Amino acid sequence: MTSPIRIAIVGFGKIARDQHVPAIAATDGVALAAIASRNASLADVPHFATIDELLREGPAIDAVALCTPPQVRRVQAAKALAAGKHVMLEKPPGATTSELDPLIALASQNGRTLFATWHSRFAPAVEPARAWLAERRIQKVRICWKEDVRVWHPGQAWIWEPGGLGVFDPGINALSILTRILTQSVFVTGAELSFPANRAAPIAARLSLADVAGLSIEAEFDFRQTGPQSWDIVVDTDDGPLTLAGGGALLATRDQVIVDAPEAEYAGLYRRFVELIAAGTSDVDLTPLRLVADAFMLGSRRTVEPFED
Ligand code: NAP
Repeated sequence: MTSPIRIAIVGFGKIARDQHVPAIAATDGVALAAIASRNASLADVPHFATIDELLREGPAIDAVALCTPPQVRRVQAAKALAAGKHVMLEKPPGATTSELDPLIALASQNGRTLFATWHSRFAPAVEPARAWLAERRIQKVRICWKEDVRVWHPGQAWIWEPGGLGVFDPGINALSILTRILTQSVFVTGAELSFPANRAAPIAARLSLADVAGLSIEAEFDFRQTGPQSWDIVVDTDDGPLTLAGGGALLATRDQVIVDAPEAEYAGLYRRFVELIAAGTSDVDLTPLRLVADAFMLGSRRTVEPFED
């Protein structure tokens, strides 16, 4: 049996605690070896304040999982790759699309794996949806991704700063699913972004997308949703509608529930990381991030009510 890949988590916040720690514990072939985070630590796991300290003074590690906000991840990824570590990037993979190019080159030069994760693509209904749609003619797509930012991102100042993406932080998950279940390329044709008067990132967005054949795709993202939350994609086809609900946990056609499974996205991400490292390859798909960048580029802007946490 080979020894497990020793992983350090960098940025010990909500997603690191909620998902990375249990997923590492549940995945064969990986082990949590250290944490680098300025203000947070975990009992019995070696702790360092920064990635520099970790790389300089920490125990031997093979890989880092970067769970910090997107604005600071490029520098951390470059340091880890330069030190010969494999790198897993939380989504979105960066604060810009072009900052990934030097990281991809560095990973390749150093023979290390760079994995830009899209956790929603590992939701249980996503691959079955792709397979079901591959055999039908798609007529229309509607995305409704509305959640309460106060519940899911309490006190996360970075999300409202430039590069934090605002409502596209969850919205990009929908776009990561969309660009997996459709086999053709899609592009943004219009967008309207709503910025709170006191914030640098949008609190809501409406997007129109299309493919070359003129398929209509409409998306609504909103951070102001209270009550029931919506993470739904409905695809109209020549064989009736396909509904992907619960962020990709549930898949239903007109007359049948095809998938209704508990989520296990992060265990899937770590299994994939192990496979990529074993194969000596990287996986960096920037398609969802490009769609978000295009929405910022093309979108008209409205100013709405100030937002306070
Ligand atoms: P978070 O709770 O704010 O945690 C991020 C951690 O990174 C912070 O606790 C902080 O730890 C560290 N950090 C913050 N600013 C930093 C800076 N300027 N320099 C260095 N470290 C900094 O955020 P999160 O929700 O875990 O999200 C992190 C990433 O995961 C985001 O890209 C997000 O899209 C993604 N994600 C989040 C969720 C979710 O449900 N929250 C789900 C999927 C993916 P220290 O202060 O201890 O350094």
